Amino acid sequence: NLRSAPLQFQNTYARLPEHFYARIYPMRVATPLLIKVNRELALSLGVAPEELESREGVEILSGNLVAEGAEPLAIAYAGHQFGHFVPQLGDGRANLLGEIVGRDGVRYDVQLKGSGRTPFSRGGDGRASMGPVLREYVVSEAMAALGVPTTRALAAVATGEPVFRERALPGAILTRVAASHLRVGTFQYFAARGDVDGTKRLADYAIARHYPEAAQMQKPYRALLDGVIARHARLVAQWMLLGFIHGVMNTDNTSISGETIDYGPCAFMEAYEPDKVFSSIDRQGRYAYSNQPAAAHWNLTRLAESLLPLLAAEEGGEEAAIACAWEALAAFGPQFEAARDAGWRRKLGLLTEREGDAAMVDDLLTRMAANEADFTLTFRRLCDAAASENDDRAVRELFDNPTAFDAWAVGWHLRLRAETSSEDRVAMMRRANPLYIPRNHIVQAMIDAAVERQDFKPFEELLDVVARPYEDRPDLQRYAQPASAEECVRETFC
Ligand code: AMP
Ligand code: MG
Ligand code: MG
Repeated sequence: NLRSAPLQFQNTYARLPEHFYARIYPMRVATPLLIKVNRELALSLGVAPEELESREGVEILSGNLVAEGAEPLAIAYAGHQFGHFVPQLGDGRANLLGEIVGRDGVRYDVQLKGSGRTPFSRGGDGRASMGPVLREYVVSEAMAALGVPTTRALAAVATGEPVFRERALPGAILTRVAASHLRVGTFQYFAARGDVDGTKRLADYAIARHYPEAAQMQKPYRALLDGVIARHARLVAQWMLLGFIHGVMNTDNTSISGETIDYGPCAFMEAYEPDKVFSSIDRQGRYAYSNQPAAAHWNLTRLAESLLPLLAAEEGGEEAAIACAWEALAAFGPQFEAARDAGWRRKLGLLTEREGDAAMVDDLLTRMAANEADFTLTFRRLCDAAASENDDRAVRELFDNPTAFDAWAVGWHLRLRAETSSEDRVAMMRRANPLYIPRNHIVQAMIDAAVERQDFKPFEELLDVVARPYEDRPDLQRYAQPASAEECVRETFC
């Protein structure tokens, strides 16, 4: 591979011990074709978009050219997949190219996903098909616009090569930007090998990169654990408040930085259904909407376990370390609930906290479930209903039986009136209740257009829609509408 320089990489991960990764270059592809460069994200990284869009840039984004200063590698990690421990997973189809410090001063990983086989590929082909690449691009960018911590999409290229799934599909590569690719599974990799030094090196790296304040504390590793737990409590609360279902909350998809990572068979629900599952591979409903907080807690428990040797050194013994871990984990529930409940209050326009608020939320959700009310639109239309008491019509018609909404709304309007009314209320609600989410049938139609007809216009338009989720744009009405019975997507695949 030649070397070149549109991206100026640093390589702190490559300075960690050699057994943390495998040094491996991306594999070449036949005829790379640029699908998209995320110009705003490039600029925020201090990278000139034109350079990424240049011939040389596209060669780098396809893995055919390795940028000057890049030290490509595949990271080693382990993980519990649907509850079963796999001691070695690792980047089986990804290369970390290196890191870039953004304009915000934060160090970001730049990774090619779908860039060919690595020593961690096991039986896989190391490639990604275009549909999932475009899904991850759109959904991760939507999440960013919704204010949810997430990995980002810097670019997508078509490889010009087929990948073979149930049938031949066009291949693609996503350039993913992440605060880092450290996962709970990365800690499990060392813990499972009894490699305490590796665990310590990794923890020190995670602290330096994501929790620098922990380094100043008396017990830095406990502070690291506390920090990861706190970020995931808030993260999962945000997912719940948006009706987002991750779909594959395995420990290798649980990031140490607290970002949403690995968009596979993820989906936003439409009709509210607490036990909703979309993922075709989640047969038991382990990662159903309502199970997400418990799944996150379970994953964080695996992190705590992996950190036990380090906690033992801080606490002066194994038993004390276990007590310390449980104490840290016990904070997850209250932190999650506090974030979730504050979020519900914003969504319902409640400016103050009162007894009975939680019951009011539960009552609404129960009625939404019984009446198949669209999650996103119900809350969005509550904004109008809060602005004018006579404006309940649009929201009530989302319920199979609109009087089920009316019965709830009486108490809600009373509750709003009991607070000093405020202009700010509706503005707050509109910022908490998006109008546009990437709806599954629209994502599917976008993928079909790209894969079947090489038509990327729906992809471009959907990206534009989800980039401004809170802004009412009358010309984009159809993006806000739930799927019809025929359009409805019931299952998602990765
Ligand atoms: P995921 O389900 O996307 O979190 O991936 C789980 C593991 O499977 C990771 O180690 C991936 O690198 C690996 N993997 C997924 N797809 C492929 C593929 N097509 N080729 C090689 N490895 C893969
Ligand atoms: Mg993964
Ligand atoms: Mg994946």
